[in-house]
Amino acid sequence: MKELKTSKGTMGSLELSATLSITAKAKAMKAAGDDVLSLCAGEPDFDTPDHIKNAAIEALKRGETKYTPESGRPDLKEACAEKLMKENNIPSSPAQIVVGPGAKFSIFTAIAALCGPGDEVILGSPYWVSYPEMIKASGAKPVIIPCRAEDNYELNPDQLSAAVNQNTKLLILNSPSNPTGAVYRKETLEKIANLAASRNFMILSDEIYEKLTYDPKFPHASIASFSQEIADLTITVNGFSKAYSMTGWRLGYLSAPKWLTDRICALQSNTTSNPTTFAQFGAIAALKGDQTCVETMRQAFSKRRDLIYGLMSAIPGVKCIRPQGAFYIFCDISSFGLNSWDFSGKLLSETKTAVIPGQPFGAEGHIRLSYACSDQTIQKSVERIRNFCSGLK
Ligand code: PMP
Ligand code: GLU
Repeated sequence: MKELKTSKGTMGSLELSATLSITAKAKAMKAAGDDVLSLCAGEPDFDTPDHIKNAAIEALKRGETKYTPESGRPDLKEACAEKLMKENNIPSSPAQIVVGPGAKFSIFTAIAALCGPGDEVILGSPYWVSYPEMIKASGAKPVIIPCRAEDNYELNPDQLSAAVNQNTKLLILNSPSNPTGAVYRKETLEKIANLAASRNFMILSDEIYEKLTYDPKFPHASIASFSQEIADLTITVNGFSKAYSMTGWRLGYLSAPKWLTDRICALQSNTTSNPTTFAQFGAIAALKGDQTCVETMRQAFSKRRDLIYGLMSAIPGVKCIRPQGAFYIFCDISSFGLNSWDFSGKLLSETKTAVIPGQPFGAEGHIRLSYACSDQTIQKSVERIRNFCSGLK
């Protein structure tokens, strides 16, 4: 007889997302009355802009409460394709777009529709916590290439070339990066694109933090814009969570070659069906409406980036690169002799300051701090971290 509690299928073997579970733990401690300062959350602390909310409210009032096509409303897919073509110079069309319940699910469906047992998927570390779990869920094998702070956390094209073999199906890129905040330089992306074309593998480019870049020397570049040949090998993922502060709306989208979009559509039509109907009207308003809200949030994050980088890099024993994008700073705390779980666990229990350990990002000896919070929270929590570190020295 099967042991019901202990035998697990592939999907039943996944780890909880460390980012979500630690963020929830910090929230629960705060709700229980602890004076917790959280630098965990991977979500903007701003409200969703009013014109986006109103578009969804109006849609609900009109009775837009029924199913849409599984890949999203045609006018939303049109708006996504237009955005990618105009802003990113990516060849796309509504038939190549799938709108899903969050970029997270779009990434999952892309990997699952493309990869299976026997396939290898290459990832640079540090990586976003969910990529390896999604790869494992598809039955494929994650192949991790360590990246160095000295190289701006970019994949080294020679190391990448050495890791590619006949089983390589996909490479995942994420720029601006969660957790490092690094933005890939166009020259490096070009070398990677040439490798994809000559060695015949696909690229998933997760561009969810695209709108949040802070250094004119490190602008965002979309790899699928380099040529039609590269576009034919690329799945570009984007969404609404970070640019428009819409994390709870659960909306994201991808653009892929039509043969793959069809497979992703089939997967989505048998799993979630369409993303929430009235939320899709908010997404249309986000893409087509005034973009001032995006720039206002970007400027606020840019100031906080300067604040947190200045404060954290001044702590003796802590090393960090100046993030060029997203809203995270990734700090090397290996000089204190604790692993990242012990460091962040002690920091939370002793100082009530919550951060995410580096280990689930594939980078032991580090911690990730989110600066999607007020200046005051940044100042107070870094003060706690400074005192904690001086006690460890
Ligand atoms: N990619 C990265 C790198 C992320 O940090 C996140 C975090 N939310 C996502 C994708 C997914 O975003 P969402 O599902 O909220 O659209
Ligand atoms: N992506 C965000 C983070 O890394 C939100 C949580 C999640 O989806 O992992 O914190």
